[in-house]
Amino acid sequence: MKKYLLPPTGRFYKANLHCHTTISDGHLTPEEVKELYKRHGYSVVAFTDHDILIPHPELRDADFLPLNSYEMEVNEPTSAPFSQTKTCHMCLIALEPDNLKQVCWHKDRYLFGNAPKYVDRSVHDDNENYDRVYSHEGVSDMMKKARENGFFVTYNHPRWSLENYSDYIGYEGMNALEIANYSCLVGGFPEYDPQVYDDLLRAGRRIFCIAADDNHNIFPEDGPYCDSCGGFTMIKAEKLEYREITRALELGNFYASQGPEIRELWYEDGKLHVRTSPARKISFCCATRHTYSYYGTDENPITEAEYEVPQDAVYVRVNVVDEKGRPADSNAYFTDELER
Ligand SMILES: [Zn+2]
Ligand SMILES: [Zn+2]
Repeated sequence: MKKYLLPPTGRFYKANLHCHTTISDGHLTPEEVKELYKRHGYSVVAFTDHDILIPHPELRDADFLPLNSYEMEVNEPTSAPFSQTKTCHMCLIALEPDNLKQVCWHKDRYLFGNAPKYVDRSVHDDNENYDRVYSHEGVSDMMKKARENGFFVTYNHPRWSLENYSDYIGYEGMNALEIANYSCLVGGFPEYDPQVYDDLLRAGRRIFCIAADDNHNIFPEDGPYCDSCGGFTMIKAEKLEYREITRALELGNFYASQGPEIRELWYEDGKLHVRTSPARKISFCCATRHTYSYYGTDENPITEAEYEVPQDAVYVRVNVVDEKGRPADSNAYFTDELER
């Protein structure tokens, strides 16, 4: 029986799930961000200004959906300069449009840029200060509290954060890893992190992966340092409605990309099948060494592939590379769930 891993109906909506504006330390106003992203074919932007949840219902129109969200962080306690300090950042996207909770709130820590000007205590459910702790338990507690309070949680840019395996392997509770952060890539960090994704999957975390810009737009749109429109998430849903889109996030009905498209993905009779935009390479990755790649050329790119899922796979995921070397990554699918 055919099991669709991306829904066969509905359409893909292009989304940037990590974004900064003049509300914190970005250089474009929310209106300017909307204008830029609509011009580049985006339907969804999560406005994730630092540590402050400001909804943007004024930006909603028939072709554009702003998601209510913010980026939360906790820093290693140290006297070292920030450039040498480990930190952990996560984006929280409210699943329900009327959820304006500020979880793990602290009245004066972590707000920076213009964010303090926007603090509206009247919208906070509880103003008790939460002391964030940089540790496996502390980060996991923040992720857990965010999930319990109705947020979709992504773990962001481990390389920029100076985090390594010994740090992120102890984090429990995220919905997704930010597998690519375009602003960090533009800035020189190797922030395309399939290895981190495999590390977490091999440790048993059943998590998704997203790609995002984390745009601050310090540099102009037409220059080489522009950090917009390079990492995106394609969300498959029936309608461009708030709850339809966030439900698709909860269900994993999306893939991450820096260029290529994953158009169809299904499992049938022990095989994974994928259809893509023209690709140079389509790879199937799993928890063991039984990976497999198909190759195309400039003249004869490939647009489909299949993979007999090995007995010891544990999970499978697809990686697609286009003629410019840009990757797209599917979510991982655990084999015990494929057969259900
Ligand atoms: Zn960040
Ligand atoms: Zn950010």
